[in-house]
Amino acid sequence: MYLQKYDLAGRGAVVTGGGRGIGLACAQALAEAGARVVIADIEEAVAAEGKAVLAGAGHAAEAVHLDVTDPEAVRAAAKELNARLGAIDILVNNAGIARSGTAAEEVADEHWLNVLDVNLNGTFWCARAFGAEMLARGRGAVVNIGSMSGYIVNKPQKQSYYNASKAAVHHLTRSLAAEWADRGVRVNAVAPTYIDTPLTRFGMEDPELYRVWIEMTPMRRVGRPDEIASVVLFLASDAASLMTGSIVLADGGYCCW
Ligand code: NDP
Repeated sequence: MYLQKYDLAGRGAVVTGGGRGIGLACAQALAEAGARVVIADIEEAVAAEGKAVLAGAGHAAEAVHLDVTDPEAVRAAAKELNARLGAIDILVNNAGIARSGTAAEEVADEHWLNVLDVNLNGTFWCARAFGAEMLARGRGAVVNIGSMSGYIVNKPQKQSYYNASKAAVHHLTRSLAAEWADRGVRVNAVAPTYIDTPLTRFGMEDPELYRVWIEMTPMRRVGRPDEIASVVLFLASDAASLMTGSIVLADGGYCCW
């Protein structure tokens, strides 16, 4: 009875920024559970690489180009994918950028707007478009990738824009969850610690930065993409049927201190 709740056979799933890193791990986890997965990435080549990785693991997936900052393109993708592939019951809003390391007083307008555009606006455009289709069917699950940076201020790198964008993603998650809870659509988020992906390479390759990150983490290590994908799979599945509006920390204990 319990393991069956993780069975996603017959469900469509879209993972934004799914061509690599955490998104690719999410795509793999959802495909393994039986979902028809669509990898949507801004770089067609990256999406195709992700599709090839899944094929290597024995899972068919679609790869599509999608820039989450373009609300018209997002709307069109939601219509097209739901029509062509059948119901998209799962949306993982994973696309995100960090651009860490700029002091607040030096942040250029374009820098601030760019980070908010991908991390916050992109999450909203996708939730709105795919969520509308889910609401019309009366079922669906949205999982947003937030961050522990939505709770704490990272040290020592400066990234006010990123932290603010992720705090906003968390509260957007709760707001959508409350609006949609009695209409069959759940909205939750995962808040990861540092995960070993291209996004954190700047810190992993800087011994001093990396030392501080590890010192501040009770588990004394960074995470792997699959450790976030496991939480996403849980939240997307019926195993989390009573959960909506939750922001699940997967942070190696970072926020305990
Ligand atoms: P990566 O940079 O490895 O992957 C992000 C993917 O999103 C890339 O394929 C990227 O494409 C794509 N992307 C960027 N902009 C857009 C866009 N406008 N439309 C569609 N796709 C886009 O990052 P991670 O896997 O590390 O991060 C995934 C998510 O997890 C992000 O939301 C991030 O903020 C969050 N997160 C990551 C943590 C970490 O330590 N890694 C910690 C906490 C949260 P491109 O190839 O062009 O860059």
